[in-house]
Amino acid sequence: METNRDILISGASVAGPALAWWLSRHGFRPTVVERAPQLRGGGYAVDFRGAAHLSVLAKMGILDAITARQTRLSATTIVDQQGRAVARMPAHVFAGDVEILRGDLAHILYEATQDTTEYLFGDSISMLGERPGGVDVSFEHAPPRTFSLVIGADGLHSNVRRLSFGEHDRFIEDLGLCVSIFSMPDSAGLDHAGLLCSVPGRTAGVFAAGDDRAIAQLFFAAPGVSYDHRDTARQQQIVAEAFEGMGWRVRELMAAMAQAPDFYFDTVSQVQLDRWSAGRVALTGDAAWAAGPGGNGTGSAVVGAYVLAGELAAARGDHQTAFARYERLLRPYVAKGQKQARGGKDFLAPPTAKKIAQIERFYKMLPYLPVKHLMKYLTTRTASGIRLPGYSLRERPGDANAGAVA
Ligand SMILES: Cc1cc2nc3c(=O)[nH]c(=O)nc-3n(C[C@H](O)[C@H](O)[C@H](O)COP(=O)(O)OP(=O)(O)OC[C@H]3O[C@@H](n4cnc5c(N)ncnc54)[C@H](O)[C@@H]3O)c2cc1C
Repeated sequence: METNRDILISGASVAGPALAWWLSRHGFRPTVVERAPQLRGGGYAVDFRGAAHLSVLAKMGILDAITARQTRLSATTIVDQQGRAVARMPAHVFAGDVEILRGDLAHILYEATQDTTEYLFGDSISMLGERPGGVDVSFEHAPPRTFSLVIGADGLHSNVRRLSFGEHDRFIEDLGLCVSIFSMPDSAGLDHAGLLCSVPGRTAGVFAAGDDRAIAQLFFAAPGVSYDHRDTARQQQIVAEAFEGMGWRVRELMAAMAQAPDFYFDTVSQVQLDRWSAGRVALTGDAAWAAGPGGNGTGSAVVGAYVLAGELAAARGDHQTAFARYERLLRPYVAKGQKQARGGKDFLAPPTAKKIAQIERFYKMLPYLPVKHLMKYLTTRTASGIRLPGYSLRERPGDANAGAVA
């Protein structure tokens, strides 16, 4: 049987480079293909919370770099449509133990892997053909190659999942919301703070992002909405229509949206799959178990990378055993994150005025509660809910016997 150590990963955001880092530490040779022409910057803030997330980042030696570039969000003020403060949420509610812009995190991961990983930007897998001993891969641009394994870390709309498992819609659970995120000038002088305003079915927020920039984050109820993911003008029209008539600073946000260099729009959805692997192809991160906001997606992407690479090394490249163990370990963990995200849906775009009043009452109580303990109970417990195996690292990653896939 042919053996080699070359593993192809699709997607260079969080899950892909984190997996590449761990694979190379175990003696494999990762290649990452990313559709975007260069590393995608910007984006929203993501957070890590609890022992499992932090211990993997510490083992990777990037926790300090992440802490150095954290958002330092101080607090978020809930305002009404006239801009009057209704309640104040302490930072820990949103920001976890350490919060960072997704683009900054991708950059740190890229820097940590660029010497040991081959990156192919501006390309995408067009065909996967499995045969004994490997997977023949065709790319849109690069010449065809053969890899021992292919891992899809290409997010909610995963290309690898479509090629190896089936059409997108079969695996998507639409949570009935849409989200739009873009950066804008920090005209409100937010200084590490955030502002949030909800009316039934819609929430508009703006958060400091440093460097005189702010991030606008909009959530709105839109069950079953369909759109063309390449048609930005139509997506902006959907957002503008959804927020028509809303007070506060929404008019200014809509004007900024039209100018935004990094407009992002998507449905808030989860991925549900019976299996995360098919032969020599496997999925990880959002491609396998997207939970949506509040589901510890970024933390579970780095935890998943640690486990998947560790199991491949522990099984000495026996991918069937490794994929089965990876799935057995991770499934209960990510299911809790998905459940948590479903439960938090009403906080993103509260459906009724009654629900908004209820949420505001909860926020008003927060200053009188031990928030760190409360969040520990509500979210950190889920994020920490996995016992991570210890995997021994190969002494010499270049060793001829290290990291071979059978
Ligand atoms: C609005 C919002 C807020 C969130 N907030 C939080 C939060 O506060 N905390 C948290 O932990 N998580 C949060 N998440 C979830 C978090 O963003 C994801 O779970 C995390 O980014 C998963 O990373 P990933 O690498 O699996 O996927 P992604 O970050 O989606 O990256 C996928 C990568 O694959 C690339 N790609 C796509 N198609 C192809 C292709 N055909 N070929 C090659 N490459 C391709 C993309 O360009 C991208 O670089 C949030 C999500 C959303 C939508």
